[in-house]
Formats: sequence, C-alpha cells, structure tokens
Amino acid sequence: MRRLVIVGASLAGLRAVESARRNGFTGEIVLVGAEEHLPYDRPPLSKAFLRQDGPAHVVPFRPERELREELDVDLLLGAPAEGLDTTAREVTVAGMGLPYDALVIATGATPRSLAGTAGVAGVHALRTKDDAVSIRNGLDAGARTVVIGAGFIGSEVASAARGRGLPVTVVEALDVPLSRAIGSEAGLACAELHRANGTELRLGTGVSGIESTGSRVTGVRLDSGAALPADLVVLGIGVTPATGWLEGSGVDLHESDRGVVCDATLATSAPGVYAAGDVAHVANPLFDGELMRLEHWTNAAEQGAAAARHAVDPAGARALATVPYFWSDWYAHRLQFVGTARADEVAVLRRDDAGLVALYRRGDRIAGALTVDRPKEIMKYRKRIADSGPWTEALAFADAGKASATA
Ligand code: FAD
Ligand code: NAP
Repeated sequence: MRRLVIVGASLAGLRAVESARRNGFTGEIVLVGAEEHLPYDRPPLSKAFLRQDGPAHVVPFRPERELREELDVDLLLGAPAEGLDTTAREVTVAGMGLPYDALVIATGATPRSLAGTAGVAGVHALRTKDDAVSIRNGLDAGARTVVIGAGFIGSEVASAARGRGLPVTVVEALDVPLSRAIGSEAGLACAELHRANGTELRLGTGVSGIESTGSRVTGVRLDSGAALPADLVVLGIGVTPATGWLEGSGVDLHESDRGVVCDATLATSAPGVYAAGDVAHVANPLFDGELMRLEHWTNAAEQGAAAARHAVDPAGARALATVPYFWSDWYAHRLQFVGTARADEVAVLRRDDAGLVALYRRGDRIAGALTVDRPKEIMKYRKRIADSGPWTEALAFADAGKASATA
C-alpha cells in the first residue's frame, strides 16, 4: 500500500484523509476535488450563512498549510476525476492516469435541476459555497423568494428568508412535505412550523415553468396556471449521486440512481475501492442488511473515516452497524431524526409547546424517532434503536417523557 487516492474533497473525503493518518498510514495520499475550494462544511450554507448577521465568509475545515504539511496530502483541486480503470488501478484526472493502490470514492451528490432554468439569473440550487453566496446576495437585496421543493433545502432557505422578514413561498409536488424522509404523519406536523412562521406553502402542485425578463427571473408558473412573482428562486428538489465518472468502470452502480453499491464494510465491487458519504448505498446489518444511501452529515463523516481505515488495512475491515442521524434547523426549532422512516407504523405522540416526538415501528421493535426541540431525548431513542429495543418500551419511555414535560 503506497498510494491512497481519495476522490471528492468535502466532508467524507477529508475525514478519510484524517483517518488514514490517524490509523498510521505513512504512504502517499492524493485528494482530488472538482471544486477549487479547500474542503468546507455545507450545513451552515443554508443556516447561519444566510442570516442577515451571518458570517461574512465560509471558512475551510482546515487551512491549506495544515492539509499539506501536517496531514501531508497532495491536493488536486479544481480537477474533477473523469474516469476510472479498476484493472489498471488508475483514476483519470485532467486527461492523465493517476495510479492508486487503494481508492476512496467520496464524490457526494449533485442537485437536480429543472428544465428551462439553465442560464436564468436569480435561479439557484444550494450545494456549494458559490451557490450560497448568490442566494445570500438575493436575500440581501430583499428578494421575494420562491423555493421549489419542500425538503431540507427548501425548509431551511424559507426559515432564513422569514428570519429577515422577507416573503417566501414553498412549492412542493407532494401533498405532504418530507414524506420520504420522515413519513407523512410527521411531515404534516412539521409543515405546521412553516405556516406558523409565515411561510406560504403550495402543496400538491408542480411547476410548469419559470417566467423571466431579459433572462432574469420574474416568477414561477404553477401547473394550475397561477404565477408566483419572484426575484429569487431556489431549487431544492433533491440530488443525484455524482458518479458519471464511474460509468463503465466495473464499480457496481445502483439501478435506481447510479449511486455506488457497497457492502457493510464500504467495499465496492472493485478490488481496493471503497465508497463513503452521500454517493454510497451501504448495507446496514442493524436493519436486516438493507441498502441505505443517506444524505446526512454524520453519515458522511463516519463513513469517510471508516472507508479510509478499511482501505489502508483491509484485513481489519469491520461491518458498520450505525443508526442514521440527522438534524435540521427550521425557524427557532431543531428537528432531529434517528434510525429509519421506512416503518410499519408511525406514532406521533406529542405535539405540544415542549416539542414533538414521533416514533417508527418495524415489527415489534423501534426503528426510528423524530423529535422537535427535545435534544436530550433523541440520543436515548438512538440507543434503543441500536439495541433493537422493544416497541412497547419505547412507547412507555415517550409517555413518561410526556408526563415530565407537562408536570
Ligand atoms: P459532498 O459534500 O457532496 O462532497 C462531494 C465532493 O466531491 C464535492 O466537493 C464535489 O465537488 C466533489 N466531486 C464530485 N464529483 C467529483 C469528481 N468527479 N471528481 C472530483 N471531485 C468530485 N446534513 C445534516 O445531517 N444536517 C444538516 O443540517 C445539513 N445541512 C445541509 C445544508 C446544505 C446546504 C447541504 C448542501 C447539505 C446539508 N447536509 C446536512 C448534508 C451534508 O452536508 C452532506 O450529507 C455531506 O456534505 C455529504 O458529504 P460528502 O463528502 O459525502 O459529499
Ligand atoms: P430533499 O430533502 O430530497 O427534498 C427534495 C423535495 O423536493 C422532495 O420533497 C421532493 O419530492 C421534492 N421535489 C422533487 N421534484 C420536485 C419538483 N419538480 N417540484 C416540486 N417539488 C419537487 O432534497 P433537498 O431539499 O433538495 O436537499 C438536497 C440535499 O441537501 C439532500 O441531500 C439533503 O439531505 C441535503 N440537506 C440536508 C439538510 C439536513 O439534513 N438538515 C439540510 C439541507 C440540505 P420527492 O420526495 O417526491 O422526490
């Protein structure tokens, strides 16, 4: 093992670098990134960075000197990987072959776009630091904002706009927002947070087009024929794994979305090649080996570290059995979710001033939990899910919590 190549210079890629060194790897590490920027954190882009009093700049996770000197990494930034030859063990970058002994794929995901929006000024996805700067400029100018998609991006951008007192409408094709991520019962409950904070919701309606004058957006046309005036349109309609460069490489890609298919140790179908983060479908032994592709921070950090550990020491590779976790900040509220929303039953147990708790049942065990503004409780549910805890005990625990919250 002389050279570890990591493709994707963001959270999973950086954690891979740090973990390889922490685990004693002294060979060469090359970090290849499509963006010109050093690795930086994405969650603040839709939260603090969009606030009127938010930070002026997005700072990298680590300064360049630390990466180059302390972690001894060769940085190839602004240089997307173009292809992979798993027989010759070479990644193609800028038309040249970059040989590897082990490879970690951490190329994340790319926002979906909407037909007819390319090149229209004032229409933005939100994935990168450059996107966030454009959206912030629009908000600074007092934009009337329309967000397409009531997922995480949509909800957090709406919160930021309302925090500045600006008008915002969220348009969502589904009747209930976030039903895939947290189920319809909890999705409905969370939608109330938008209404209570003055965000207009247009649910169960598609977008038929963008209106513009001189290639600058002026509005969004709905399927119903109605038009919403807008100076700023943010697309939050989901992402697709960034794997175009892997087509034909021999690395198995999932038939649904072309994400990288991995076993529980993050190994792909190609020898010496591992994957981590938003790009990877990973078998999770805790949920009967179900393949999960998660699009959340904690998952990318944990998998990035594990993928590099396994890449530099394949004999020590162990299956990962972690309970998924994410958080999201809406207005003054914190949503937290552990486990899976793919469940036989969802019980929304508490909707009161002290927050919300929803529990998810699979068979006779607890498989997931959502809380709003109950930060101390969420990790207790995580432990129950990790231990395959009985459903009835989880319900009793939630009931006891309700009693103490209302006492
Ligand atoms: P990414 O962060 O997508 O990074 C992949 C990197 O690979 C990118 O820099 C990309 O340019 C690069 N790349 C792509 N193709 C190539 C190529 N061919 N060659 C070289 N490089 C390539 N999660 C939460 O749990 N809570 C939150 O509150 C939260 N907030 C978020 C807010 C925003 C605005 C966004 C966008 C995401 C948020 N997330 C949140 C999700 C979290 O940030 C992601 O799950 C995490 O960034 C995934 O990390 P990753 O390294 O797998 O992929
Ligand atoms: P998302 O959470 O997947 O939500 C996209 C939403 O848009 C879904 O409800 C989707 O419905 C809907 N949609 C899809 N096509 C549409 C259309 N044409 N018109 C109207 N609605 C449409 O994705 P996202 O909000 O775009 O976020 C992008 C990425 O950033 C994700 O990886 C997300 O996890 C990450 N992120 C995470 C957080 C967090 O965890 N706190 C915060 C911000 C961003 P369907 O479900 O039917 O497709």
